[in-house]
Amino acid sequence: LAPRRIFNFSPGPSTMPQVVLEQAAAEMLDYRGSGVSVLEMSHRSAAFEGILAAAEADLRELLAIPAHFKVLFMQGGAIGQNAIVPLNLVARRPARKIDVVLTGEWSRKSWTEAQRYGDVALAASTLDSGHTHMPPAAGWTLRPDASYVHVCSNETVHGVELHELPDLRALGSEAPLVIDASSNIASRPIDWTRAALVFAGAQKNLGPSGITVVIVRDDLIGQALPICPSVFDYRVTAEQRSMFNTPPTYPIYLLGLMLQWLKGEGGVAAIERRNLAKSGRLYAAIDGSGGFYRNPVAVADRSRMNVPFFLPSTALTDRFVAEAEAAGLSALRGHKVVGGLRASIYNAMPEAGVEALVAFMQDFQRRHG
Ligand code: PLP
Repeated sequence: LAPRRIFNFSPGPSTMPQVVLEQAAAEMLDYRGSGVSVLEMSHRSAAFEGILAAAEADLRELLAIPAHFKVLFMQGGAIGQNAIVPLNLVARRPARKIDVVLTGEWSRKSWTEAQRYGDVALAASTLDSGHTHMPPAAGWTLRPDASYVHVCSNETVHGVELHELPDLRALGSEAPLVIDASSNIASRPIDWTRAALVFAGAQKNLGPSGITVVIVRDDLIGQALPICPSVFDYRVTAEQRSMFNTPPTYPIYLLGLMLQWLKGEGGVAAIERRNLAKSGRLYAAIDGSGGFYRNPVAVADRSRMNVPFFLPSTALTDRFVAEAEAAGLSALRGHKVVGGLRASIYNAMPEAGVEALVAFMQDFQRRHG
C-alpha cells in the first residue's frame, strides 16, 4: 500500500490510522491462518468469539471500566441510543422524567427523541447564546425524581466539550448521568464514579460506523419498557453478550484493531496528552491570528476533538477549503448548521497533521489577510 498523501480532518464517519487500515488489508483474505476473512467467519466461531472478547477486554483496560459496568456492542448508532436509552431507563421512576442538558446539535437531537418516551425538561440550555459554552453544572435545574440526566460530552458540530463530568449527587440528584460520548470517547479518561451510562457511535475514535458502544452500570439494566424491542434491551444484550442477533462482525474486528493501536500508543493517558497538544496548538494559531481566524467558543469549554473556526467572509472560506484540499488537508468545511470551517482532530490525527494545518493557515493569512 502506498502511504497516504492527505491529512483527513473529517468529522466522520471515521478516521483511522494508516497502520490500522494496513493491518486490516493484510488480514482481509485470510484472518491469521483461519483461511477465511473476518467478513466470512461465523460469529459463533472460536475465532470471532476471541475477537469480541479481546475488544471488550481492551476497552475495559483502556477506559478503566469497573467490573460493575457492562460493555455492550449494539447497532443503531448513537442516534439509536437516543431512543434506546429512554426505552431502557425511563421506567426507573414512576414519573418517567428525563432531564436534558441542551448544549448543541447532538443533545438537541437527544432531547427531541426523548420526548417520545417521557416527561422531558431542560436542566440547562445554551440555545439562546448559540451553543458557545457549557452551562456550569451548579446552575442546572435537576428534578429529584428524574429517571436520568442526559448530557453530550462533546458537541461535534459546535465544538463545545464538557471537561469535567458533574457529580450529580453533590448537586442534590440521585439520577444516573447518561453521556453521549460519540465524539470524544477514548480521547481522555472517564470518571466512572460520575458516569452511569456512556454511549458512543464508535466511528470517530474507535473505528468504523456500524457499531455502537454502550457502557452501562449494572443497576440500570433490567428495567426496560415492555415495548422495548428485545434487540435493544440492555438486559437481553448483556445476557447474550452482544450476540442476541448477528453482531456487526467486521466493525467489531476493526474496533479491536483500533483498541490495539491505542494501547500501542500508550493508552488513553498518552493519547489525552497528544490531544491536548494538538488542540492547544490549533487554538493558539486561531487566537494568535489577530482576528483573521475566529473561534466563538468560551476558552474553558473548547473541544479538543472538533475545532470550528471562521474567516471574515464566505468567499475566503470557500477559497480556504479549496486551497487546503489541494494542499492535502482534507474535509475542513464546517457543518451546515454553523458554517465556516471545522478541523476534526480525533485520536487518529497525528500531531504532524495539525502542524501542517497551522502552517497552511499562516500561509493563507499571509496571502489573503
Ligand atoms: N452524537 C454525537 C455527539 C455525534 O457526533 C454523532 C455523529 O456525528 C451522533 C450522536 C450520531 O451518531 P450516529 O450517526 O452513530 O447515530
